[in-house]
Amino acid sequence: MTVADVFDDIVGQDRALRSLRNLVQTPSHAYLLSGPAGSAKLEAAIATAAALQCEQGGCGICDECQRVLRRTHPDVTVISRAGVNWSVDEIRDAERIARRIPVQGRYQILVLPNIELSVLAAPALLKTLEEPPRRTIFILLADELPDHLTTVESRCVKVPFSALHFDDIVTVLERSGVSSVQARMAAEAADGNLDRARVVARDEELAQRVTAWRNVPDQLRSVSPVALAQSIIAGLDAAIAPLQAVHAEELDTWKRDAELAGRRGGQKDVEQRHQREQRRFRTDELRFGLSTLTRTYRERLVASLEGGDDGDLRATNEAKSSIAAITAITHAYENLTLNANENLLLTDLLTTLTRT
Ligand SMILES: [Zn+2]
Repeated sequence: MTVADVFDDIVGQDRALRSLRNLVQTPSHAYLLSGPAGSAKLEAAIATAAALQCEQGGCGICDECQRVLRRTHPDVTVISRAGVNWSVDEIRDAERIARRIPVQGRYQILVLPNIELSVLAAPALLKTLEEPPRRTIFILLADELPDHLTTVESRCVKVPFSALHFDDIVTVLERSGVSSVQARMAAEAADGNLDRARVVARDEELAQRVTAWRNVPDQLRSVSPVALAQSIIAGLDAAIAPLQAVHAEELDTWKRDAELAGRRGGQKDVEQRHQREQRRFRTDELRFGLSTLTRTYRERLVASLEGGDDGDLRATNEAKSSIAAITAITHAYENLTLNANENLLLTDLLTTLTRT
């Protein structure tokens, strides 16, 4: 059996990588890598593409492997969509590339991320998958598997991915030069999402936000729930600023390219995608804050249980109020969706916490 070294740099996902290592030995024309956002699916897809092109099944050192890993291989294309959803035209463009004869490699490989965002384009995608050119391989990636993908799924070899473990995220961040303390904090804030962990690891204000959340119980003694909710939201606004800067730059580049190419329309799609990413960032950030707050109350609970003697009224009351607080936070966490009104949700929660 070939040792597929090209997968070795990917941390975690042992089971998925084991499947991929086996699968590349008898290639299929379509794979579907599915699992939560930030679970290293794209990294795994690139490694799979290298393993397929490489004569040794993914040695990681030959020219084929190197080119695929550096993303300069002429026969491996990662196609990304411009708007919120895949458009039928984008899928047709992918199909055109799929029909090309490989110029250097053994296969023509196309990687399509976020294929779950393809309600309208799914039929076109399906048609492409049903009549695959002989030497073409599709690697589709999906964060979720909605109903409209059922038929697409049935045409693919499926490889499930799970959210990454805390330790795996810490390892990846440390390898990229992030300090151990910052890596652990970012991994905690990332909730299994490596992409988010990479963003927050570079965030110098992260430690301050952790402290702010941990101080909520003390703050509530002197600050009103309304004022505290507002200050937490101000912290959120500051946290998202770097992402907004990246998006503004991306939009400028897009506008310049569109002008050069004489392209009209499509700008709204880019803006909508940015809005969606920013909403998700805020929701993730709030989830992280609520988890930090839960941990703070849990520590208080443990301390009151360990500290108090049997029948110690003060300790018993403190334990009870910590449990009530944890229940309220869990409830808020569950109500947190992309469309939640942050201000209302936080003010409600903080008001409840002052009563516990
Ligand atoms: Zn190789």
